[in-house]
Amino acid sequence: MNWTDSEKIAAILVDLGMNMVASLEDADVLIVNTCSVRQRAEDKVYGLARRVAIRKKHHPRFRVVMTGCMAQRIQRSGCSERIDRKYISNLRRKMPWVDEILPIGEYSKLSDIVGRTLPLRTGYSSYVTGTQMNNSSFQAYVPITSGCNNFCSYCIVPYTRGSEVHRDSAEIITQVVDLIDKGYCLITFLGQNVNSWIGEVDGRPARFHDLLRCILELPGDYWITYLTSHPKDYTDELAKVHLHPKMCQYISLPVQSGSTTVLNAMNRGYTREMYLDTVKMIRDICPSIRLSTDIIVGFPGEREEDFAQSLSLIETVGYGMVYIAEYSPRPPAASVSLKETVSKEEKSRRRVLLEEAQRRSMRRNNESYVGRTIRVLVTGPSSGITHDLREIQFNDICKVGSFTDVLVTDSSASGLVGSISV
Ligand code: SAH
Ligand code: SF4
Repeated sequence: MNWTDSEKIAAILVDLGMNMVASLEDADVLIVNTCSVRQRAEDKVYGLARRVAIRKKHHPRFRVVMTGCMAQRIQRSGCSERIDRKYISNLRRKMPWVDEILPIGEYSKLSDIVGRTLPLRTGYSSYVTGTQMNNSSFQAYVPITSGCNNFCSYCIVPYTRGSEVHRDSAEIITQVVDLIDKGYCLITFLGQNVNSWIGEVDGRPARFHDLLRCILELPGDYWITYLTSHPKDYTDELAKVHLHPKMCQYISLPVQSGSTTVLNAMNRGYTREMYLDTVKMIRDICPSIRLSTDIIVGFPGEREEDFAQSLSLIETVGYGMVYIAEYSPRPPAASVSLKETVSKEEKSRRRVLLEEAQRRSMRRNNESYVGRTIRVLVTGPSSGITHDLREIQFNDICKVGSFTDVLVTDSSASGLVGSISV
């Protein structure tokens, strides 16, 4: 979501007559689009302080605008009882260099905020029309929902992004038609929980799989994928859509823990067995699907046997990718009130063990590709991604944004190696 928000902001600023520059040291305005999901993401923002101070010294009109989740938390601090006030005052103290706060989505305020110091064209109305500037010439992200109603106990998103809102199907379809017309060939639908999207298609009530089916009727050479889907809402209708040749053979299905006890404490709404049933349902329908997941280690109360269940799940499911995070409390998320029982060192030990299991699983997963000829979307001069979003390198030079057939000659944990087949 932050990525698409950044693209929207960039589109608006370009519309206002500004240029994008590659580095903070050349900028008049720095927009810091922040993420609060994990502590590490926030630490990166604090780390900007020195560069900002130097830039401000050399260029007194240089302004810093903060948006995204951290901005949202500061902004809401005046009106929400549930926001941790100590956290907010800390945030302000640590970042006196932030000049303006821009609430997420209220990007029409950008012209006022930026215009205070810079001469700008007027008459802008970009965000409302959903204009986005895609930094890539072939890959685009299309948000379909924002916010979340699930309140997983560790998660800050419902507080920073607010309640779940579904974008209108007509607006989504218009944007996709436009992207396909412009030659975009990898389109990713985005939302915290895309499979809970509901709306109307052709005047009838529609769910996410109906929206996808409608979009897949559009002519053109493109692939569709989406992020992220909540396991508790994953349906067989959605799995069946993956039988369409334009659907990427990839599903991100974040489990967060392999232990039912921890899943309950996380308020995820499913057990280990229910999750495994969903995996089986998906694979029965679509055997070639590549699954990825997110796992948190060191959630309060996670015992050695709970952790062992996360470890074994990686083997059992055979994921193509696992994103591992060490638990960090994110006020005002509910888990803040739970006593942390796993030390920093132990979290790190558990993370390393999961990473090793992940590498083994990915290596096995990639090996099965050697000797096959597969269609690849070229993403760099001699690299690309497969239909199930694996990375592949090849020696030949190809046109970025085109599709080509590649014979897979080798593999590793991180991806595939191949040569263009003629
Ligand atoms: N909507 C997605 C996840 C969004 S947050 C879902 O339901 O799974 C992205 C990832 O950040 C999560 O999958 C989780 O692994 C990680 N994360 C979120 N809160 C965290 C926390 N408090 N500590 C550590 N990792 C966290
Ligand atoms: Fe956070 Fe849970 Fe919503 Fe995902 S589903 S964004 S983890 S509250």
